[in-house]
Amino acid sequence: MKPASTRHTCAVVLAVILALTTVTPNALAEQASGAPPEQGSLLANVYTMTSAEYRACCMSIYRAATYRLEEIVEEMAGEAGSAPLRPAVVLDLDQTVLDITSFQTFVYQSGLSYTPARWSVYEQAGVEEVLLVPGAGEFIAEAEALGVSVIYLSNRNEANQEFTIAALEHVGLNTEGIEDRIYLKPTGASSDKSPRRDAISARYNVLMIFGDNLRDFSEVFKPERLGEGATADEYLSAIRARSDAVEDALCHWGVDWFMLPNCMYGEWQKHVPDNPVDIMTPTEMTVEQTEN
Ligand SMILES: [Mg+2]
Repeated sequence: MKPASTRHTCAVVLAVILALTTVTPNALAEQASGAPPEQGSLLANVYTMTSAEYRACCMSIYRAATYRLEEIVEEMAGEAGSAPLRPAVVLDLDQTVLDITSFQTFVYQSGLSYTPARWSVYEQAGVEEVLLVPGAGEFIAEAEALGVSVIYLSNRNEANQEFTIAALEHVGLNTEGIEDRIYLKPTGASSDKSPRRDAISARYNVLMIFGDNLRDFSEVFKPERLGEGATADEYLSAIRARSDAVEDALCHWGVDWFMLPNCMYGEWQKHVPDNPVDIMTPTEMTVEQTEN
């Protein structure tokens, strides 16, 4: 007979597989109502999953960060006295360290939208489906070799922490002392990472932050919420405000903040109207010019 813990694990795995494969009445209604927004992300998903260009982009970022970290650690070693706090780098997880494109495949195949509940099921059931974002593993290994603590700050559910740790193990990352190095979203908490970011800064000398969404770095990037019926000008104004905030933070990019690309999903989508042509780069070119 299997031990109780094994039986529990089997029951959880079975439950999450059923939840992922069972189409509920709500889901059927959703499928009947037309394609959810994720269907429009198909090429973005395929680009991330298959293009060597995406790999090169991620590797470039992590390689540049590695050189920068080696430089910082060398500078710190040359400074008189010892720093009071242990040096650390802070990394978001999904699409920063963990490649969760298999969830995007599930969304596409099922014709369902992302929901927090479906994502929570994936956190449990997708442990062995996650991959590493190119370059992340090498960077993390180098940081650890340099004596820099690697901290994970993610909005994955804290209630699913054991599964997220299992996912880190699955991709071969060091999980020694991980309970002290992982900051997930407590049940009912907001997606604002600031309180956890502050808690990390109180314990560590944070040298670098990595993310794929602007709010992985600071709440100053929280996107303006646009109501139903917002005009194209209002969308463009919100887009400009977000871009301006990025410009204002120029001193950080590539220095202590490193952004990984994510064209599949993210808060940038909050500023994409139903008719994206309204916000696309304008052109004066006409069909007549090309077809005559
Ligand atoms: Mg992320």
